[in-house]
This record gives sequence, structure tokens and C-alpha cells, in this order.
Amino acid sequence: MKSDSDVKRQPMDMPMARVPQGEVHVIIERCKECGFCLEYCPTKVLVYSPKINTKGYHYPIVADGKESACVHCRYCDLICPELAIYTTLVEDEAGEGDDDKAAGKTVGPETDQ
Ligand code: SF4
Ligand code: SF4
Repeated sequence: MKSDSDVKRQPMDMPMARVPQGEVHVIIERCKECGFCLEYCPTKVLVYSPKINTKGYHYPIVADGKESACVHCRYCDLICPELAIYTTLVEDEAGEGDDDKAAGKTVGPETDQ
């Protein structure tokens, strides 16, 4: 007799499920380098830029190889105390959010160290 753990269950519409893709936008000059967005991103999309903004803070950028990893969960947007980061849904030609368009935009002038 099979136990409950032997029975694999999944939603009937699982094959139709689409994971959304987000595009990350950072308003560089607002960032205070608190690190909340890096810490709470479930897919670890973000790392600190080696560059700093005009206030001297390292701001988040999309990590190499993670350009398509943002799932537009918006945790970073919700948790940022400075309203310095947000994401937008990347839509495919059918108008659904799930394609491989480039992600990882930053907004505002970058400042060299
Ligand atoms: S929206 Fe979610 S997955 Fe995308 S960068 Fe923010 S926390 Fe990470
Ligand atoms: S949560 Fe906001 S202020 Fe903190 S590091 Fe991320 S973008 Fe910068």
C-alpha cells in the first residue's frame, strides 16, 4: 500500500504554468547600501556593484548569469526603505510575462569609484 508521500500530486494545469520574468531597475542615487534587497531576493539575483553612487554607497546590480533569474516577486521593491529598486514584468509577444529579454537596468548616472 502506498503512503501519502509516495503519491505525487500536482495541479492539473501545471504544464501551463508560466514563471514570470522581471526586469530590475535601480535608482542608483537613492540607494543606501542597506543590503535588504540582496538578502531577501529568493533567487539571489542581486549583488553589489563595485561602483558607488555620489553618496558613496555600493548599489545593487544583477549578478552575472542571473539576467533571466528575476521572477518579479517584488520583494526587493517592497522591502527597500529608500524606494530605490523596483521590477517590471517582461512580456513576450503574446503579451504574457515570460521571455528572455535582457534584465538588469540601472537608472541614473553611475559613479566611478
Ligand atoms: S523581484 Fe524578486 S526575484 Fe526579482 S530581484 Fe526583486 S526580490 Fe529578486
Ligand atoms: S534595499 Fe534599497 S537601499 Fe537597500 S541596498 Fe537595496 S536598493 Fe539599496
